[in-house]
Amino acid sequence: MRTIRKLMQFVGRYWLWLVIILVCTLAANALGLYLPKVTQRIIDDSIVVKNYALLPYLCILLFGVVLLKGFLNFTTMFLSPFIAQRTTYDIRNRLFDHIQRLSFTYHDQAETGQLLSRSTADVDALLAFLGDGLTNVVSNVLIFVGVLVLCISMNWQLALVSLSTMPFLIFFVFRYSRVVRPIYTDIQDQHGKMTSTIQQNLMGIRVVKAFAREEFEIKKFAYESRTLLNKVMTSVRVNAFYGPLMDFIAAAGTTFILWYGGMQVVNGNLKVGEFVAFNAYLGMIIWPVRIMGWVVNIVQNAIASADRIFEVLDTYPETHLKDGNIEMTECHGEVEFKNVSFTYNDGSKALSNISFRAEPGEMVAFLGGTGSGKSTLINLIPRFYDATEGQIYIDGHNIQDYKLTSLRSFVGIVAQETFLFGDTVRGNIAYARPDATLEEVIEVAKAANIHDFIISLPEGYETKIGERGVNLSGGQKQRIAIARALLMNPPILIMDDSTSAVDTETEAMIQKALVSLTESRTTFVIAQRISTIQRADKIVVLDKGHVVETGTHDELVEKNGLYNEIYNMQLRSQKKAE
Ligand code: ADP
Ligand code: MG
Repeated sequence: MRTIRKLMQFVGRYWLWLVIILVCTLAANALGLYLPKVTQRIIDDSIVVKNYALLPYLCILLFGVVLLKGFLNFTTMFLSPFIAQRTTYDIRNRLFDHIQRLSFTYHDQAETGQLLSRSTADVDALLAFLGDGLTNVVSNVLIFVGVLVLCISMNWQLALVSLSTMPFLIFFVFRYSRVVRPIYTDIQDQHGKMTSTIQQNLMGIRVVKAFAREEFEIKKFAYESRTLLNKVMTSVRVNAFYGPLMDFIAAAGTTFILWYGGMQVVNGNLKVGEFVAFNAYLGMIIWPVRIMGWVVNIVQNAIASADRIFEVLDTYPETHLKDGNIEMTECHGEVEFKNVSFTYNDGSKALSNISFRAEPGEMVAFLGGTGSGKSTLINLIPRFYDATEGQIYIDGHNIQDYKLTSLRSFVGIVAQETFLFGDTVRGNIAYARPDATLEEVIEVAKAANIHDFIISLPEGYETKIGERGVNLSGGQKQRIAIARALLMNPPILIMDDSTSAVDTETEAMIQKALVSLTESRTTFVIAQRISTIQRADKIVVLDKGHVVETGTHDELVEKNGLYNEIYNMQLRSQKKAE
């Protein structure tokens, strides 16, 4: 019930159209019920009694009824899909909008496949219901009740005889839908499994080939494909059995009418016209009964899908969590962590009691082994996650007091895993500022040391990259991501291992370019190589989520702690390499 009420909020917007659809459906069905009556009068009042003067009028009436019914049907058949499409369009967009706003914590746990199928398959199930199910339910109930009342009022004995097969038909209809439902669910599931087998295979095709496991993969796919075939065949068998069975029961009903009704006509208890009308009514009632199972399925599917969609929509997006009200108009770049601890939702404690301070324009570097919490720490600055304990201040204000969008517009981030969209090089660099001029784009590309490479591409800055575009190496992607962050000209710049995928030589060049670019802003850098962070104003050494040392390069070497250990290790391996 709650689901239906929520659904109605979306449909309710179009209530006037819904009323029109409902009125048209009702009127069309009423006319449909009236049609056999006209036929009956043509036979009984005109043909049988040879009153030919009446015939043209009755035929014109029949024609008029058919025409009007056609017009009404046209209106519903046009309006009903229109409303259904509009409503699903609204829901689809609302869902996508909502998914955009859900927090990192949500996306950490959500399965991409689930969100995909909710935005597509579940929305389609709703569409099926709103498009066909709704009007079908209304008209079927109306036809069923109408036929029942009309038949019984015309001749209750004949009604009883001709409708005697109805209980059997209804029984088998419901049995059919009970049997076929789990089979269809099974087929859907299996279809998903097969699709994900294909997807995984395509994504890992290089691994497959490298280990010569093609045969294994072919067998794996054949198994899933075969299972799908078997399941589909089960549904085919069930359909093949129940379809003709229901046709048979319907036909049996007609036989009874012809037999019992025919007898009554011969005895003079029933007029020929009534007899014909009766037959027509029975014909009208069979279809609604037969598709009742289908309608029930559509409704149940739609409710299940709506439930899954609303489950996502009911999750509060990050902006609802706690948005501050200070609009950040300028930023000096003073950042302070005060006793910050962070625990992920799954209970793993990633940071404990972190405190440090970055003055405007400083460069702060983080060093530590994998899993020591470096990425987690910098993700707290643009509030991808909120600190579990402690506070973070920018320019003296708690970051939770700033408006989220304004905070993020002052923090540029080059993430550890770079992602480029299927767009041109220029489009990717100008992602945050689509209005940037080509000169500005070129300037940051030069700073990120990627300009020369870009102009060597077939179409320069207009070359398509990302999926289905030119293939780029890890280092090239990283440099484009750096250019993208630089274009925002952020007062606070964060680079998470952004130079890990480039060779030492390129890195040195990026570093040189970055010196001028980082002078005017507060920069947080995570890097594996000490050479990258040597010139930092402050180096924070992390271990298992704790700060173990803080200081400049020289201070830390002096201290002879973990930093010095790592430094010596890197020096040694460098010497060996030389
Ligand atoms: P680093 O960047 O220093 O390699 P991370 O900050 O990525 O380390 O990870 C710190 C710890 O937090 C690790 O133990 C890691 O397993 C855990 N962790 C990282 N991301 C998540 C996440 N999204 N959910 C749960 N735990 C996470
Ligand atoms: Mg990391």
